[in-house]
Amino acid sequence: MTQDAISIEGLVKTYRGSKGEPEKTALKGVDLAIPRGSVFGLLGPNGAGKSTLINILAGLVKKTAGKVQIWGFDQDINPRQSRASIGVMPQELNLDPFFSPRGALEVQAGLYGVPKSQRHSDDILRLVGLEDKADAYARTLSGGMRRRLLLAKALVHRPHVLVLDEPTAGVDIELRQMLWQNIRQLNRDGMTIILTTHYLEEAEEMCDEIAIIDHGDLVARDSTANLLERLDAKTLVVHPETPLIEAPRTKGIETELRVDGSLALTYRRQVTSAEQVLDFVRASGISIRDLRSEEPHLQDVFLALTASRQD
Ligand code: ADP
Ligand code: MG
Repeated sequence: MTQDAISIEGLVKTYRGSKGEPEKTALKGVDLAIPRGSVFGLLGPNGAGKSTLINILAGLVKKTAGKVQIWGFDQDINPRQSRASIGVMPQELNLDPFFSPRGALEVQAGLYGVPKSQRHSDDILRLVGLEDKADAYARTLSGGMRRRLLLAKALVHRPHVLVLDEPTAGVDIELRQMLWQNIRQLNRDGMTIILTTHYLEEAEEMCDEIAIIDHGDLVARDSTANLLERLDAKTLVVHPETPLIEAPRTKGIETELRVDGSLALTYRRQVTSAEQVLDFVRASGISIRDLRSEEPHLQDVFLALTASRQD
Protein backbone atom coordinates (compact mmCIF):
# COMPACT_ATOMS: atom_id res chain seq x y z
CA MET A 1 0.00 0.00 0.00
CA THR A 2 1.37 3.38 -0.97
CA GLN A 3 1.35 6.44 1.25
CA ASP A 4 -0.35 8.56 -1.39
CA ALA A 5 -4.04 9.34 -1.35
CA ILE A 6 -4.11 9.09 -5.13
CA SER A 7 -1.55 7.60 -7.46
CA ILE A 8 -1.99 7.85 -11.22
CA GLU A 9 0.38 6.39 -13.81
CA GLY A 10 0.24 6.81 -17.57
CA LEU A 11 -3.40 7.84 -17.54
CA VAL A 12 -4.87 8.15 -21.03
CA LYS A 13 -8.42 8.94 -22.03
CA THR A 14 -9.58 9.03 -25.62
CA TYR A 15 -13.22 9.87 -26.22
CA ARG A 16 -14.66 8.25 -29.30
CA GLY A 17 -15.95 10.90 -31.69
CA SER A 18 -19.69 10.91 -32.22
CA LYS A 19 -21.46 11.72 -35.51
CA GLY A 20 -18.38 12.00 -37.68
CA GLU A 21 -16.44 13.99 -35.07
CA PRO A 22 -12.80 12.91 -34.74
CA GLU A 23 -11.82 11.14 -31.55
CA LYS A 24 -10.47 13.32 -28.79
CA THR A 25 -7.59 12.45 -26.49
CA ALA A 26 -8.42 14.37 -23.31
CA LEU A 27 -5.59 12.91 -21.19
CA LYS A 28 -2.28 12.06 -22.84
CA GLY A 29 -0.45 9.92 -20.30
CA VAL A 30 -0.69 11.70 -16.97
CA ASP A 31 1.46 10.68 -13.97
CA LEU A 32 0.39 12.22 -10.69
CA ALA A 33 0.73 11.42 -7.01
CA ILE A 34 -1.36 13.28 -4.45
CA PRO A 35 -0.19 13.00 -0.84
CA ARG A 36 -2.52 12.11 2.01
CA GLY A 37 -3.77 15.01 4.09
CA SER A 38 -3.28 17.71 1.51
CA VAL A 39 -5.59 20.22 -0.09
CA PHE A 40 -4.61 19.69 -3.69
CA GLY A 41 -5.55 21.96 -6.57
CA LEU A 42 -6.00 20.76 -10.12
CA LEU A 43 -5.85 23.75 -12.44
CA GLY A 44 -6.05 24.24 -16.15
CA PRO A 45 -7.88 26.20 -18.82
CA ASN A 46 -11.26 25.11 -20.13
CA GLY A 47 -11.08 21.77 -21.92
CA ALA A 48 -7.72 20.87 -20.34
CA GLY A 49 -8.99 17.52 -19.04
CA LYS A 50 -9.69 18.30 -15.37
CA SER A 51 -13.21 16.90 -15.24
CA THR A 52 -12.14 13.88 -17.27
CA LEU A 53 -9.45 13.11 -14.70
CA ILE A 54 -11.82 13.60 -11.79
CA ASN A 55 -14.58 11.57 -13.39
CA ILE A 56 -12.14 8.71 -13.91
CA LEU A 57 -11.23 8.87 -10.20
CA ALA A 58 -14.95 8.87 -9.39
CA GLY A 59 -15.55 5.83 -11.58
CA LEU A 60 -17.89 7.81 -13.85
CA VAL A 61 -15.63 7.74 -16.92
CA LYS A 62 -13.75 4.64 -18.09
CA LYS A 63 -10.06 5.23 -18.68
CA THR A 64 -8.46 4.17 -21.96
CA ALA A 65 -5.11 3.20 -20.43
CA GLY A 66 -3.06 3.64 -17.28
CA LYS A 67 -3.19 2.80 -13.63
CA VAL A 68 -5.20 4.50 -10.89
CA GLN A 69 -4.86 3.83 -7.18
CA ILE A 70 -7.12 5.43 -4.59
CA TRP A 71 -5.96 5.17 -0.99
CA GLY A 72 -3.71 2.34 -2.11
CA PHE A 73 -6.48 0.39 -3.84
CA ASP A 74 -6.08 -0.24 -7.56
CA GLN A 75 -9.25 0.71 -9.38
CA ASP A 76 -9.14 -2.39 -11.58
CA ILE A 77 -8.12 -4.89 -8.90
CA ASN A 78 -10.12 -3.55 -5.92
CA PRO A 79 -12.94 -1.52 -7.46
CA ARG A 80 -15.16 -1.69 -4.39
CA GLN A 81 -12.55 -0.48 -1.91
CA SER A 82 -11.22 2.17 -4.23
CA ARG A 83 -14.75 3.51 -4.81
CA ALA A 84 -15.46 3.51 -1.07
CA SER A 85 -12.36 5.64 -0.45
CA ILE A 86 -13.48 8.59 -2.52
CA GLY A 87 -16.42 10.99 -2.52
CA VAL A 88 -17.10 13.35 -5.39
CA MET A 89 -18.99 16.61 -5.55
CA PRO A 90 -19.72 16.96 -9.26
CA GLN A 91 -19.70 20.13 -11.28
CA GLU A 92 -23.35 19.87 -12.37
CA LEU A 93 -26.36 20.07 -10.09
CA ASN A 94 -27.79 16.60 -10.66
CA LEU A 95 -30.25 16.20 -7.80
CA ASP A 96 -33.41 14.15 -7.74
CA PRO A 97 -36.27 16.65 -7.22
CA PHE A 98 -38.35 14.09 -5.31
CA PHE A 99 -36.05 13.75 -2.30
CA SER A 100 -35.67 16.01 0.69
CA PRO A 101 -32.05 16.58 1.78
CA ARG A 102 -32.37 13.88 4.44
CA GLY A 103 -33.98 11.52 1.92
CA ALA A 104 -31.22 12.15 -0.62
CA LEU A 105 -28.55 11.36 1.97
CA GLU A 106 -30.32 8.15 2.98
CA VAL A 107 -30.51 6.98 -0.63
CA GLN A 108 -26.84 7.81 -1.16
CA ALA A 109 -25.88 5.95 2.04
CA GLY A 110 -27.85 2.96 0.77
CA LEU A 111 -25.99 3.04 -2.55
CA TYR A 112 -22.68 2.94 -0.68
CA GLY A 113 -23.88 0.17 1.65
CA VAL A 114 -23.55 2.26 4.81
CA PRO A 115 -25.50 0.40 7.53
CA LYS A 116 -28.33 2.36 9.21
CA SER A 117 -26.49 2.35 12.55
CA GLN A 118 -23.47 4.06 10.99
CA ARG A 119 -25.31 6.80 9.13
CA HIS A 120 -24.78 10.34 10.30
CA SER A 121 -27.08 12.40 8.11
CA ASP A 122 -27.82 14.95 10.85
CA ASP A 123 -24.14 15.71 11.43
CA ILE A 124 -23.54 16.17 7.72
CA LEU A 125 -26.59 18.38 7.28
CA ARG A 126 -25.40 20.51 10.19
CA LEU A 127 -21.92 20.78 8.70
CA VAL A 128 -23.26 22.18 5.44
CA GLY A 129 -25.89 24.34 7.16
CA LEU A 130 -28.95 22.46 5.91
CA GLU A 131 -30.28 21.18 9.24
CA ASP A 132 -33.32 23.47 9.00
CA LYS A 133 -34.07 22.16 5.53
CA ALA A 134 -33.57 18.47 6.31
CA ASP A 135 -37.13 17.54 5.40
CA ALA A 136 -37.94 20.32 2.96
CA TYR A 137 -39.13 19.62 -0.55
CA ALA A 138 -36.15 19.64 -2.90
CA ARG A 139 -37.91 22.10 -5.19
CA THR A 140 -37.93 24.69 -2.38
CA LEU A 141 -34.13 24.63 -2.11
CA SER A 142 -32.16 27.53 -3.55
CA GLY A 143 -29.25 26.96 -5.91
CA GLY A 144 -26.78 27.46 -3.07
CA MET A 145 -28.60 24.95 -0.88
CA ARG A 146 -28.57 22.39 -3.70
CA ARG A 147 -24.85 22.82 -4.06
CA ARG A 148 -24.40 22.26 -0.32
CA LEU A 149 -26.54 19.15 -0.62
CA LEU A 150 -24.21 17.85 -3.33
CA LEU A 151 -21.31 18.29 -0.91
CA ALA A 152 -23.30 16.51 1.80
CA LYS A 153 -23.98 13.58 -0.54
CA ALA A 154 -20.27 13.20 -1.25
CA LEU A 155 -19.67 12.76 2.49
CA VAL A 156 -22.18 10.03 3.47
CA HIS A 157 -19.70 7.15 3.32
CA ARG A 158 -16.96 9.07 5.15
CA PRO A 159 -14.48 8.90 2.27
CA HIS A 160 -10.75 9.39 2.86
CA VAL A 161 -10.56 11.57 -0.24
CA LEU A 162 -13.04 14.28 -1.18
CA VAL A 163 -13.00 15.57 -4.74
CA LEU A 164 -14.73 18.81 -5.69
CA ASP A 165 -15.09 19.81 -9.32
CA GLU A 166 -15.33 23.61 -9.55
CA PRO A 167 -17.14 23.82 -6.20
CA THR A 168 -17.46 27.58 -6.18
CA ALA A 169 -18.04 28.31 -9.86
CA GLY A 170 -20.89 30.80 -10.15
CA VAL A 171 -21.76 30.87 -6.45
CA ASP A 172 -22.10 34.04 -4.41
CA ILE A 173 -19.44 35.21 -1.97
CA GLU A 174 -21.31 34.05 1.11
CA LEU A 175 -21.68 30.50 -0.16
CA ARG A 176 -18.10 30.47 -1.36
CA GLN A 177 -16.91 31.42 2.14
CA MET A 178 -19.07 28.70 3.61
CA LEU A 179 -17.75 26.05 1.22
CA TRP A 180 -14.17 27.12 1.94
CA GLN A 181 -14.87 26.85 5.65
CA ASN A 182 -16.36 23.36 5.18
CA ILE A 183 -13.39 22.27 3.10
CA ARG A 184 -10.89 23.55 5.67
CA GLN A 185 -12.77 21.85 8.51
CA LEU A 186 -12.89 18.52 6.68
CA ASN A 187 -9.19 18.77 5.91
CA ARG A 188 -8.35 19.53 9.55
CA ASP A 189 -10.32 16.43 10.48
CA GLY A 190 -8.00 14.43 8.25
CA MET A 191 -9.69 14.30 4.88
CA THR A 192 -7.58 14.68 1.74
CA ILE A 193 -9.15 17.28 -0.55
CA ILE A 194 -8.76 17.60 -4.29
CA LEU A 195 -10.41 20.51 -6.03
CA THR A 196 -10.49 21.95 -9.48
CA THR A 197 -11.04 25.64 -9.88
CA HIS A 198 -10.48 28.31 -12.42
CA TYR A 199 -10.35 30.95 -9.70
CA LEU A 200 -6.62 31.11 -9.23
CA GLU A 201 -6.85 33.18 -6.08
CA GLU A 202 -8.93 30.35 -4.63
CA ALA A 203 -6.19 27.85 -5.40
CA GLU A 204 -3.59 30.23 -4.01
CA GLU A 205 -5.51 30.57 -0.78
CA MET A 206 -6.74 27.01 -0.30
CA CYS A 207 -4.22 24.60 -1.81
CA ASP A 208 -0.90 23.35 -0.41
CA GLU A 209 0.02 21.78 -3.71
CA ILE A 210 -1.02 22.31 -7.27
CA ALA A 211 -0.94 20.49 -10.58
CA ILE A 212 -1.56 22.37 -13.80
CA ILE A 213 -2.86 20.48 -16.81
CA ASP A 214 -3.18 21.81 -20.31
CA HIS A 215 -4.35 19.98 -23.44
CA GLY A 216 -4.27 16.69 -21.55
CA ASP A 217 -0.67 17.02 -20.34
CA LEU A 218 0.62 17.76 -16.86
CA VAL A 219 2.68 20.94 -17.25
CA ALA A 220 3.50 21.65 -13.59
CA ARG A 221 3.26 19.96 -10.23
CA ASP A 222 4.64 21.69 -7.16
CA SER A 223 3.82 23.31 -3.85
CA THR A 224 1.91 26.55 -4.25
CA ALA A 225 4.82 28.46 -2.70
CA ASN A 226 7.36 26.94 -5.09
CA LEU A 227 5.19 27.61 -8.11
CA LEU A 228 4.97 31.26 -7.14
CA GLU A 229 8.70 31.44 -6.51
CA ARG A 230 9.40 29.85 -9.85
CA LEU A 231 8.19 32.98 -11.54
CA ASP A 232 11.23 35.09 -12.03
CA ALA A 233 9.47 38.35 -12.83
CA LYS A 234 9.18 40.90 -10.07
CA THR A 235 7.60 44.35 -10.05
CA LEU A 236 8.61 47.45 -8.08
CA VAL A 237 6.05 50.23 -7.91
CA VAL A 238 7.39 53.74 -7.39
CA HIS A 239 5.27 56.74 -6.47
CA PRO A 240 7.22 59.81 -7.69
CA GLU A 241 7.30 63.13 -5.82
CA THR A 242 6.24 64.99 -8.97
CA PRO A 243 3.95 63.55 -11.66
CA LEU A 244 5.59 61.96 -14.70
CA ILE A 245 4.60 62.72 -18.26
CA GLU A 246 5.86 59.46 -19.63
CA ALA A 247 7.62 56.35 -18.37
CA PRO A 248 11.39 56.34 -18.80
CA ARG A 249 12.73 53.47 -20.90
CA THR A 250 15.76 51.24 -20.57
CA LYS A 251 16.84 47.77 -21.65
CA GLY A 252 15.98 44.91 -19.31
CA ILE A 253 13.31 46.75 -17.31
CA GLU A 254 9.74 46.99 -18.49
CA THR A 255 8.20 50.27 -17.37
CA GLU A 256 4.58 51.31 -17.20
CA LEU A 257 2.95 54.53 -16.06
CA ARG A 258 -0.21 53.62 -14.18
CA VAL A 259 -3.41 55.64 -13.93
CA ASP A 260 -2.75 56.44 -10.26
CA GLY A 261 0.49 58.17 -11.32
CA SER A 262 2.75 55.41 -10.10
CA LEU A 263 5.53 53.90 -12.16
CA ALA A 264 5.66 50.10 -12.33
CA LEU A 265 9.03 48.57 -13.13
CA THR A 266 9.07 44.86 -13.96
CA TYR A 267 12.36 43.01 -14.16
CA ARG A 268 13.75 39.49 -14.05
CA ARG A 269 15.42 38.75 -10.77
CA GLN A 270 18.02 36.52 -12.36
CA VAL A 271 19.16 39.31 -14.68
CA THR A 272 18.57 42.56 -12.83
CA SER A 273 18.80 43.45 -9.15
CA ALA A 274 16.41 45.70 -7.25
CA GLU A 275 19.39 47.99 -6.66
CA GLN A 276 19.89 48.41 -10.42
CA VAL A 277 16.21 49.20 -10.85
CA LEU A 278 16.38 51.91 -8.18
CA ASP A 279 19.58 53.30 -9.72
CA PHE A 280 17.73 53.59 -13.03
CA VAL A 281 14.83 55.43 -11.33
CA ARG A 282 17.20 57.93 -9.72
CA ALA A 283 19.25 58.33 -12.91
CA SER A 284 15.97 59.22 -14.67
CA GLY A 285 15.64 62.18 -12.31
CA ILE A 286 12.71 60.74 -10.38
CA SER A 287 12.60 61.31 -6.64
CA ILE A 288 10.82 58.54 -4.81
CA ARG A 289 7.97 59.44 -2.48
CA ASP A 290 6.93 55.86 -1.85
CA LEU A 291 8.00 52.42 -2.95
CA ARG A 292 6.54 48.94 -2.75
CA SER A 293 7.10 45.60 -4.41
CA GLU A 294 4.47 43.38 -6.00
CA GLU A 295 4.69 39.63 -5.57
CA PRO A 296 3.81 37.46 -8.53
CA HIS A 297 0.41 35.77 -8.49
CA LEU A 298 -0.54 32.30 -9.51
CA GLN A 299 -2.28 33.93 -12.44
CA ASP A 300 1.13 34.91 -13.86
CA VAL A 301 2.61 31.45 -13.36
CA PHE A 302 -0.43 29.91 -14.95
CA LEU A 303 -0.25 32.16 -18.00
CA ALA A 304 3.47 31.60 -18.36
CA LEU A 305 2.95 27.84 -18.39
CA THR A 306 -0.13 27.56 -20.57
CA ALA A 307 -0.16 30.60 -22.84
CA SER A 308 2.22 29.51 -25.58
CA ARG A 309 1.33 25.84 -25.79
CA GLN A 310 -0.30 24.32 -28.86
CA ASP A 311 -2.37 21.16 -29.26
P1 ADP B 1 -12.05 20.57 -18.26
O1 ADP B 1 -12.84 19.96 -17.14
O2 ADP B 1 -10.62 20.81 -17.91
O3 ADP B 1 -12.69 21.80 -18.80
P2 ADP B 1 -12.85 18.20 -19.74
O4 ADP B 1 -12.21 17.06 -19.06
O5 ADP B 1 -14.29 18.44 -19.50
O6 ADP B 1 -12.00 19.51 -19.48
O7 ADP B 1 -12.65 18.04 -21.32
C1 ADP B 1 -11.39 17.72 -21.89
C2 ADP B 1 -11.57 17.52 -23.40
O8 ADP B 1 -12.33 16.34 -23.65
C3 ADP B 1 -12.32 18.64 -24.08
O9 ADP B 1 -11.76 18.84 -25.35
C4 ADP B 1 -13.72 18.10 -24.19
O10 ADP B 1 -14.39 18.66 -25.31
C5 ADP B 1 -13.50 16.62 -24.38
N1 ADP B 1 -14.59 15.83 -23.81
C6 ADP B 1 -15.02 15.85 -22.53
N2 ADP B 1 -16.03 14.99 -22.33
C7 ADP B 1 -16.26 14.41 -23.54
C8 ADP B 1 -17.19 13.42 -24.02
N3 ADP B 1 -18.07 12.85 -23.21
N4 ADP B 1 -17.12 13.07 -25.33
C9 ADP B 1 -16.22 13.65 -26.16
N5 ADP B 1 -15.32 14.56 -25.78
C10 ADP B 1 -15.34 14.95 -24.50
MG1 MG C 1 -14.56 20.67 -16.05
